[in-house]
Amino acid sequence: MFLWFSAPLFTRRNTGTRWIPVGKHPLAWEQARVWRCLHEPAVSALRGQDAAATSKKRVSSASMEPFNVESLVRDELQRMEPYAPILPYEVLARQLGRDPSEIIKLDANENPYGVCPAVRNAVAAAPFPHIYPDPESRELREALAAFTGVPASRLLVGHGADELIDLIFRLVIRANHQDTVVNAPPTFGMYQFDADLNAAKVVSVWRKADDGFRFPTEQVEAYFAEIAAARERGVDQSYPRIVFVTCPNNPDGSRISDSDLRRLLRLPTLVVLDEAYIEFADSEEERYPDASGGSETRATVTEPPTRIRWVLEYQNLIVLRTFSKWAALAGLRVGYGAFPEALLPHLWKIKQPYNVNVAGQVAALEALCQRDLLFQQVSWMKAERQRLYQILQAPQFAWLHPYPSQSNFVLCRVRSDDALCNGSRRKVASARALRDFLRDRGILIRYYDSKGLTDCIRISMGTPAQMDRLYEVLEAYARVLGYGNER
Ligand code: PMP
Repeated sequence: MFLWFSAPLFTRRNTGTRWIPVGKHPLAWEQARVWRCLHEPAVSALRGQDAAATSKKRVSSASMEPFNVESLVRDELQRMEPYAPILPYEVLARQLGRDPSEIIKLDANENPYGVCPAVRNAVAAAPFPHIYPDPESRELREALAAFTGVPASRLLVGHGADELIDLIFRLVIRANHQDTVVNAPPTFGMYQFDADLNAAKVVSVWRKADDGFRFPTEQVEAYFAEIAAARERGVDQSYPRIVFVTCPNNPDGSRISDSDLRRLLRLPTLVVLDEAYIEFADSEEERYPDASGGSETRATVTEPPTRIRWVLEYQNLIVLRTFSKWAALAGLRVGYGAFPEALLPHLWKIKQPYNVNVAGQVAALEALCQRDLLFQQVSWMKAERQRLYQILQAPQFAWLHPYPSQSNFVLCRVRSDDALCNGSRRKVASARALRDFLRDRGILIRYYDSKGLTDCIRISMGTPAQMDRLYEVLEAYARVLGYGNER
């Protein structure tokens, strides 16, 4: 029965003597009639739809242009420059023909000591990785409240600080409004990247190397004053919706002063203070040791000079922090921020529900428990920063000028001026050649040739042994240039 009713025209019936096509069997016409009665209405309905669709297609496809799927991509994204991320360890190692363990990675400001064992064990022992993570990161936010002094209700955790930067753009940048944000390059590339992604216009107010890459507070104020004057004249111009301030700034490590930050906070805008590296900045006692009675300059374990609690004082301030650098969790992606009370309900609404995964939440919680050990590592990195300045004072490094840094990296300008070689047979140094020279010997640093950073390299602080190796290779490069016997 089933065969007859499901497909009577294509099956055969066994008559006992031979197979006859159903259509030719004496009973076939009757079976086919029954089948049609049962199924015809549905079949004809389907046929009708098909016919309608086909005729529509015929009509409209005649007038359609050839379709190019790429034309669906938003115009501003077609024009957008891709972000140049750091290559993964294994890929770099393969490119250099080395084992990953041989590579000294001083190019992305990571913690060179790696994840601490207690954190690794906590992640391995996480009981419920098969269950979605807590969308509100409750336990972690409570622990962060104790760590920062900001109530948990004012904290939001993200898939790295990067995710929070994007979330802030999504929150305040309106589509088709020509909204602007102020950026102070050279600085961290993600502000420009997320502005492009979210169709915001960037007003760049440049930091200057000969001003120590100081945040250009006066110029930003002047820009807002210009807009205020235009608005008074009746011009319909909006203020920038966000001002990004990175402290310490990446890539130079400079910090903004309290008074400059307070001036910016008086402007009619949202100030995002990115403190991704604040744990490496010296506290007041470390910066001015004499003021506290001692002459000791060695880095000590103290509370970093964060302004995160300023969010309790200013309603237009966001402060971002991360576990990527000091806590060695760059690969697990955990950042957090303190936000204005008025913005939080909206941020909770728009955030991806399960943005911080189980491993990240467990690791960050344990890192807070291990903070003494991790801050010890921070102090070692700060000591390496100090040593780098001392070593680069030697005459054979006259071609390498380090800028003062309050972070776990040091920006250096490779002096390629002929004056250094005057009257000698020395070769002119080159940042790119130095990058290649180091890379060929397994040491990775960050090289720049962008506006404001031509001839610059940035060196992240490694372990003492890694830094010793760096100095050996720098000396070898100095000898190639013709330096070497001065010490
Ligand atoms: N801010 C600055 C200034 C950074 O340099 C970085 C990382 N390079 C971040 C934020 C992003 O941190 P995360 O790893 O938490 O996304």
